Amino acid sequence: MNNIADYKIDHLSIGTVCSHSALQIFHGAKQEGFKTIGLTLPSRKSTYELFPLARPDEFIELESFKQLLTTENQKKLLDKNAIIIPHGSFVEYVGAKNILENYNVPVFGNKGSMIWESSREKVTQWMELAKLNVPKYKSPDEIDSLCIVKLGGAKGGRGFFLVKNETEFYDKLGPNKIEDVVVQEYIVGVRYYHHFFHSVIKNRTEFLGIDQRLESNVDGLHRIHEYVEPSYTVTGNAPVVIRESLVPGIIKMGENVVKASKELFSPGLSGPFCIETICTPDLKFYAFEISARIVAGTNVYPLGSQYSCYYFDEPMSTGRRIAREIKEAKQNDSLEKVVS
Ligand code: AMP
Repeated sequence: MNNIADYKIDHLSIGTVCSHSALQIFHGAKQEGFKTIGLTLPSRKSTYELFPLARPDEFIELESFKQLLTTENQKKLLDKNAIIIPHGSFVEYVGAKNILENYNVPVFGNKGSMIWESSREKVTQWMELAKLNVPKYKSPDEIDSLCIVKLGGAKGGRGFFLVKNETEFYDKLGPNKIEDVVVQEYIVGVRYYHHFFHSVIKNRTEFLGIDQRLESNVDGLHRIHEYVEPSYTVTGNAPVVIRESLVPGIIKMGENVVKASKELFSPGLSGPFCIETICTPDLKFYAFEISARIVAGTNVYPLGSQYSCYYFDEPMSTGRRIAREIKEAKQNDSLEKVVS
């Protein structure tokens, strides 16, 4: 349950944790005329004070991110009629289950999507229902080609490793338990992380951009001629455009993900999401992840992207798009449709 019905809708504010995509969220919220609140550790506050156009109007200081859940901090936000924008760090620090069961501050989007994106089994079910091509999962005795081994719950590629056969799998597994990892066929191609925004107010799925993650050390390996075990830790992001003939297929993927979400967790996905893919030489996309919230890759477009400019004749970042949706929902008296 959230308390949006009790909010003074002319005094709404937008809050988020000072991390991940917070600069873009604050910047966009300010552009749309909202007051902004930064939930921060003391050590990070000075960074968020540095940027005049993205500095939150006020801070709530936390000794640790565990304090996000306390009744006292939730009450502070409720008193300020705050809507929280969940990003990757917020979901990681609070936990999807806690957001669903123990967080009463209105959260932008559908909390159900956080539950579905945070479990590899569920996200795979979602991708399959959306008819995306998902790289095959294998049991250790089925490894007969290059495979990537993913640690359960490990986001951002940390601790992933490659194997070519069952012996190598057990050699590299180390202290990890077999039930804590999944093995997936390794797709060689070019990575595209597609950003979308599903507007329940406009009833349309917008294609807002594409990025590519810069992963260390795998993205540096072409510079040397030694064999070095690749790792996939995300360190940054870069903007990408794609062959225009591939755009219709990308939009279809986005729409199918929204359609499937309505079957899995009614009323379905709302707000920003990302489909993470690899495109092979036959121009087929393989999807290995859905992120059902703003992704850090959208930070490459604080003034809008090479696709957002075809929807909006003003700079439209994903952060601003979120604030615009809240503003339009408020004008239509339908805030309850955009928060959960
Ligand atoms: P993830 O944590 O699932 O987003 O994956 C982290 C990174 O591992 C991705 O950004 C890709 O670079 C890589 N990766 C994940 N799955 C595959 C796959 N099936 N084939 C090739 N690379 C992959």
